[in-house]
Amino acid sequence: MGRSGSCCVADVADLSGGEHLFKRTTSVCPGCLRLLEVDVVIRAGKVYFRKSCPSCGLSEALVSEDARYYVRAYSFARAGTEPLHYSQQAEHGCPTDCGVCDEHEQHTCLPIIEVTDHCNLECPICIVNNQYSTHMSLEDFHSIIDGMVRREGTCESVALSGGEPTSHPQILELIRIAGRPEIGRVVVITNGLRLGRDRAFAEAIKKSGAYVALQLDGFTADAHEKIRGRDLVADKDAALGALKELKIPTQLVFVATRGANEHQIGKAVDLLLEEDHILSLNFQPAAFTGFGGGKYPGDPMDRLTIPGVIQRVEEQTGGRLKKSDFFPLPCSHPQCVSLTYLMRMEDTSYLPFARFVDFTRFGTLLRSSATLPANAEIHEALHDVIHDVFARQDEIERGPEVLAALRGLLLQMFPDRPLTAREQVRIGEGRAKSIFLHHYMDRHDFDLERLRKCCHHYPQADGRVMPACGFNMFHRGAAKGPDTAVAEFARRAPNGAGRSLRVVQGT
Ligand code: SF4
Ligand code: SF4
Repeated sequence: MGRSGSCCVADVADLSGGEHLFKRTTSVCPGCLRLLEVDVVIRAGKVYFRKSCPSCGLSEALVSEDARYYVRAYSFARAGTEPLHYSQQAEHGCPTDCGVCDEHEQHTCLPIIEVTDHCNLECPICIVNNQYSTHMSLEDFHSIIDGMVRREGTCESVALSGGEPTSHPQILELIRIAGRPEIGRVVVITNGLRLGRDRAFAEAIKKSGAYVALQLDGFTADAHEKIRGRDLVADKDAALGALKELKIPTQLVFVATRGANEHQIGKAVDLLLEEDHILSLNFQPAAFTGFGGGKYPGDPMDRLTIPGVIQRVEEQTGGRLKKSDFFPLPCSHPQCVSLTYLMRMEDTSYLPFARFVDFTRFGTLLRSSATLPANAEIHEALHDVIHDVFARQDEIERGPEVLAALRGLLLQMFPDRPLTAREQVRIGEGRAKSIFLHHYMDRHDFDLERLRKCCHHYPQADGRVMPACGFNMFHRGAAKGPDTAVAEFARRAPNGAGRSLRVVQGT
């Protein structure tokens, strides 16, 4: 990981005191998107980017509400894994050459395929400019899936997104195409409107075997109105009801937004823990990017970041979950994602793994996956954890119960027979849940070193595989919003022929 700059963790003697230069990195000017070398400064316990653009002048942006979390996260950095094949060679320099070019530092953990630009909502926070012009053809979708399997071999999850993917007239056929043996889960990321209103469709989704990632940003009319543009309480209740009744494996996605829904974070955690079919919860601190998000009235100096959301989880769950239960995900850049896994105990309560696992020793258990996959690496790690817990069970909270639950988990995940790739991904479900915090970047907190390690990618029909934050900020011209400047390098198609950047707004 490129940690250019003049300062290391040990140098930062007092993170809550005066101002320190922690390091330097590459960001962009929030006005003109010019790439800039910026100072990463720590002040009064928080982390800021300080920028100086020759055209637009000085600016600052909050990048972390907790300097200790930010500094410590770097100790979780680990080298990435190359894909079997890169899509192209680096030519003009990052982030022009997406991708992924042969200088990218991580393979695709989660491919997100935007199958339509139609939607049945127009959300103020949306990153996409819905053009209502295109549903992806089955042919293009086939070629994207083929390309992904060629590059990656196997893939734990593939997400179908949009627009609103359930508005694609052939969505069930797309799910069927993606349901190849090399792919563990097909996840439909949806606002849930159609699921709640169309029973036959919900039943068809159940039958398809797809998982649902339900956008759920709160539980009150005002929260929905601010973030999604209108009261969606009844629609979300209907979607949640259908998912529960049909026992469709569900992930919740909660865009955590300052002043809109930050007080409802604990209730989302409660819902995760109450419902067996809900496997994971993904908090996304709002990023002010894209067609809607770029215009959302957020303050770059007073916004939610990962440690701020963790803080609210602790406060709003009465300490059932604590800050110390969360760890940076080493797979992407450690400032991108934080997570905790929760193990189901024999009495059906959930206990965070962090209460009995030392993640600085057992880092392989920190994975970009909603549940733990049954592969050789996890098998070995769980064995070692069981030995460790056995030796320390008197010191560990609910030690003997933890040991029993771990043994049950091991037995369920690793039966005495070979598992298919799909079974490996799914067999641990029900024994462990997860909470992820994923902070997408915008022009205020953009950090090029994070982008180079990105593992959430948008595969394109033309063969490119676009790291998500770079795509949203620079390459998906249509998503930028009419008032957002477009960087010069983002206007031209990288590597020449056959590339179309669809720059619609802001040019
Ligand atoms: S973000 Fe990755 S793929 Fe894109 S140009 Fe940079 S190194 Fe290459
Ligand atoms: S999408 Fe953005 S925040 Fe997420 S891993 Fe990629 S660079 Fe990091």
